[in-house]
Amino acid sequence: MTNPINTDPMTVPMTGSQASLYQQLRGHLATLKLTAAAEHLPSVLAEADAQGWSTTQTLEHLLAREVEATEARKLAGRLRFASLPTPATLADFDFDAAPGVDPKLINELATCRYLESAINVLLIGPPGVGKTHLAVGLGRAAAEAGYRTYFTTAADLAARCHRAAIEGRWATTMRFFAGPTLLIIDELGYLPLPGEAASALFQVVSQRYLKTSIILTTNRGVASWGEVLGDTTVAAAMLDRLLHRSVVLNLDGDSYRLRDHHAKNDALRQTATGTRRPLQ
Ligand code: ADP
Ligand code: MG
Repeated sequence: MTNPINTDPMTVPMTGSQASLYQQLRGHLATLKLTAAAEHLPSVLAEADAQGWSTTQTLEHLLAREVEATEARKLAGRLRFASLPTPATLADFDFDAAPGVDPKLINELATCRYLESAINVLLIGPPGVGKTHLAVGLGRAAAEAGYRTYFTTAADLAARCHRAAIEGRWATTMRFFAGPTLLIIDELGYLPLPGEAASALFQVVSQRYLKTSIILTTNRGVASWGEVLGDTTVAAAMLDRLLHRSVVLNLDGDSYRLRDHHAKNDALRQTATGTRRPLQ
């Protein structure tokens, strides 16, 4: 029966057997560790009473609270594991500031369909143009869509593999880098990779080939990868695997970091010379 004034089942007068049934139900939820359902039990029962829900509806509402809590916990876990270095999202990427980047392509990537076909994404461009921003945004989208995602830099990957080799954990480390559905390797080419590091990277790329996706960012055009990896054969073999099924985005243009700086300089120049440069 509906009681519009007093709908809290804890305060709605209950018969002794109703109260013990309620306590039993709470006990079951606690035993099964359905914490969110236990927590929402009073409010769901109150609403069920107020809205005249059927038993099925009431159970659905109660378990939906538990499913929501589980999903939220899993997402938090995936994001923690992903180790994304910044809070960047695809939503706050400014396409007007990156004329070389096709919003349609990024929107397609944001659906995460490329992960189902183990397609790689290469982001190539000079410093400051938004490569890491896009990589992190895509990583966040993947984690939110339920994919296991992991972010690392080329230098960090190399250092971890080096330590692993010394400590006899090579196989475990290789398995670790094979695990995530999406592996993001940021900043290839900023530091030269010694021979051992290049072969570690090659092995990571090889074992993921045709199975799982890599997003790789680099400031070096593919033509100079031989130099970056210190070995043209390894570079060619790695590029072969990376590019076979891939989307390549060339980002060039003004550094986003320096845009403000350039705008201020332009303004200063105009004031100093009395000339105006056409808007770009
Ligand atoms: P890169 O990795 O290419 O060196 P980043 O992704 O680190 O560049 O970008 C540098 C800074 O500028 C970051 O704070 C990033 O969020 C911001 N940024 C770069 N491009 C854009 C863009 N198109 N829209 C919004 N922010 C951007
Ligand atoms: Mg970067």
